[in-house]
Amino acid sequence: MTTTTHNSTAATLDLDAVRAEFPILQQQVHGKPLIYLDSAATTQKPQCVIDAVRAYYECDNANVHRGVHTLSQRATDGYELARDKVRSLLNAKDRAEIVFTRGTTEAINLVAQAWGRTNLREGDEILITHMEHHSNIVPWQLICEQTGAKLKVAPVTDTGELDLGGFKSLLSDRTKLVACVHVSNALGTINPVETLTRLAHDAGAVMLIDGAQATPHLKIDVQAIGCDFYACSAHKMYGPTGIGALYGRRELLELMPPYQGGGEMIKSVTFEKTIYNDLPHKFEAGTPNIAGAIGFGAAVDFLNRIGLDRIAQHERELLDHGMSLLDQVEGLTQIGRAKEKAGAMSFILEGMHPYDVAPILDYAGLAVRDGHHCTQPLMERFGVTATLRASLGVYNRREDLDALIEAIERARKMLV
Ligand code: PMP
Repeated sequence: MTTTTHNSTAATLDLDAVRAEFPILQQQVHGKPLIYLDSAATTQKPQCVIDAVRAYYECDNANVHRGVHTLSQRATDGYELARDKVRSLLNAKDRAEIVFTRGTTEAINLVAQAWGRTNLREGDEILITHMEHHSNIVPWQLICEQTGAKLKVAPVTDTGELDLGGFKSLLSDRTKLVACVHVSNALGTINPVETLTRLAHDAGAVMLIDGAQATPHLKIDVQAIGCDFYACSAHKMYGPTGIGALYGRRELLELMPPYQGGGEMIKSVTFEKTIYNDLPHKFEAGTPNIAGAIGFGAAVDFLNRIGLDRIAQHERELLDHGMSLLDQVEGLTQIGRAKEKAGAMSFILEGMHPYDVAPILDYAGLAVRDGHHCTQPLMERFGVTATLRASLGVYNRREDLDALIEAIERARKMLV
């Protein structure tokens, strides 16, 4: 498995050195040292990313692809170098297959609209799963409304794994696209994306993977997975907000019409006819998030320097520690016990609403998410409206999880 293996021979992480790279972690909240356990919502940013964005604005700021002047060339070089770094991180074959977007959400909307409008007809089906984030549900509902295609939903088991039998039974020659999350943000489940891609392709469908929660935790190889589209967000990968990427297989991107019209995405415009630009610029209308892309590139450098194999191993150990501690808390139920899991622990507490617990945890300096995590259908599947979610980043320590359990115990004494 190219995407889920944890390299046991990897040298261990120098955690103090890693933590020292994150200025935000050196603060107190309500008089207590900040313990950040909300990386699934967004990761904190290392100094190298902050510096890259700052250096761009201080030294190189100019618009890209337009001017011959030195600053414009520097900005263009920085922006395009970031594309090369993302290509390499995802192991795409060709840099033209990496389209910068605002993030995962925009990447999925781009495919839903640009691919969907030309390829979907009444009676066609799109298959998603019950564990999708809203951003991998709503764009498909929109294109279904526009084209008459139907949305099908593959079931999830009680342990929070995809029901593979159920998934297979919903695939047919009517299925034109399968869209599936790689790592669930609410449960942490790692889906077997290579297998799902093979099944989708065998049925003649195109495969899109929502990689928002996978790219910070796992080594990704889009060629080994074999998928047609892969979406990610820089801000979940220690990079800036407002930038992300869509990997799309060149043959498919070539055939897709533009997503938005404007500057950058054209070769020539007359009132009679517009010739579109080459890939990937055809999908990047308007002035892009140049600083964001450069920060994204710095975040990719950070991930490579620490090593995704080491990150995965460190986080797996933390996950095991955290899950076994949570199991010892009276009245606590963990939701999502998949064998293959990364990043997130979701749980509910008997007699306590997550909305009441989260502020108590905050008062102890703990940043933990409460709510439906933009997965309302999944919450409904488990019979809850919300969970508490502790999610991990490379900077977390075992002590962070010990502190979480202590704070939960305190909350229980206060609320029950
Ligand atoms: N998919 C998953 C699994 C996510 O966790 C998120 C972010 N919470 C998204 C999609 C959307 O990402 P973004 O808001 O960065 O576009």
